Amino acid sequence: MMSFNIFYEKILQFINTGIEDDFTYNETRYLQFTNLAAIATAFAAANGIFIYLYERIFLPPQEHSLFQFLISCTLVLSSLTVIALNRYHHYDKAKDLLLLAPLLVVTTLAFTSQKETGDHLYFFLAPVGIFFFLGLNKKSYMWVAATFVLFLAILYYQANYPPLSPLNETSVQFNYITTLITIFIVLTTLTAFLINTNINMEKKLTELFETDHLTGLYNRHKYSLYSKQLYDEAREKQHHFSVLIFDIDHFKAYNDSYGHLAGDNALRQIADILQKHIQKENDYMFRFGGEEFVAILTDTPLENAKALAQRIHEDILSAKIEHKSSPTHEYITCSAGVSSAVPNRTTPYLSLFEQADNNLYRAKREGRNRVVA
Ligand code: GH3
Ligand code: MG
Ligand code: MG
Repeated sequence: MMSFNIFYEKILQFINTGIEDDFTYNETRYLQFTNLAAIATAFAAANGIFIYLYERIFLPPQEHSLFQFLISCTLVLSSLTVIALNRYHHYDKAKDLLLLAPLLVVTTLAFTSQKETGDHLYFFLAPVGIFFFLGLNKKSYMWVAATFVLFLAILYYQANYPPLSPLNETSVQFNYITTLITIFIVLTTLTAFLINTNINMEKKLTELFETDHLTGLYNRHKYSLYSKQLYDEAREKQHHFSVLIFDIDHFKAYNDSYGHLAGDNALRQIADILQKHIQKENDYMFRFGGEEFVAILTDTPLENAKALAQRIHEDILSAKIEHKSSPTHEYITCSAGVSSAVPNRTTPYLSLFEQADNNLYRAKREGRNRVVA
């Protein structure tokens, strides 16, 4: 199992060659298809090289398929070039080479060598088909049409004329076996990595959906979905459930004096401090509003929750973010309201939140820069 995973990781690495962080879902799939098709092509072509080596060792010179060997080398090389082009971000060139080189080589092979070698065409129909569905533009229509015509021409030629340079029986048998094995491997890998791509993309989307862009904390949306659920779980387990609300003091004045970009930077800095204090499993920090943050601690009694709010409050102060226009302090400060309870049937989550909110307002009224629990 372990070695299969390593093998799978290696293949995935190959398939993801050239991928960039900011790729869209389609760009990701497009690149992965190109790389996978290149790997499949190299795989399918490699048998021509093995056949030639076999013939060199066991058969007399007149039975050596040098022609097929050369063509196989071209295919393997062009496939590796496709992956290298992707690696250095020449995506369009990679795509063109992937379509053109194998198609030309296999066409030559199908006309000259043997009827059976035409089976390899299926491999090169696959990338064309994939690009057709992913691309859906003039170029992809043209490719599909050209390939179709070529395919018909090959079938016609093979039905009516003998091959120019026939392969021997062993080579043909070998061709069939490797073709079948390659199709099997490619289909399995394709399925596995498609599922993998979907899982990763879903993870990414969920993350985007739940994360506040500016601060990297969970956003309001996640808070709305999650807070009640956490509360219900705590009620079932009869755990102490604590809510902490933080609000930056005189933040409007901060924006007015230093500008919104500086305001954003300050928010980021404060969010980092807040997040740093959320270390226990089942503790969460959300950006609730502009400069308001909510922490939910699902297994923490009032005393500990208050102590944590106090530590965060001190940490924000000791970050010493200058705030000249604040009537409260020379640095940015925050006020916090804390509430805590072991949830029961008669108290809903909102009443606990309201209690923390009232405490926050008390902190503001009493002069800001403090924690009220
Ligand atoms: P108080 O001490 O009573 O909380 O005063 P305050 O100025 O902090 O409160 P108020 O609600 O009046 O203003 C909050 C300000 O936070 C208003 C807005 O300009 C600022 N703000 C909200 N979201 C953002 C943001 O994403 N970036 C920046 N730079 N500022 C923001
Ligand atoms: Mg506010
Ligand atoms: Mg404020």
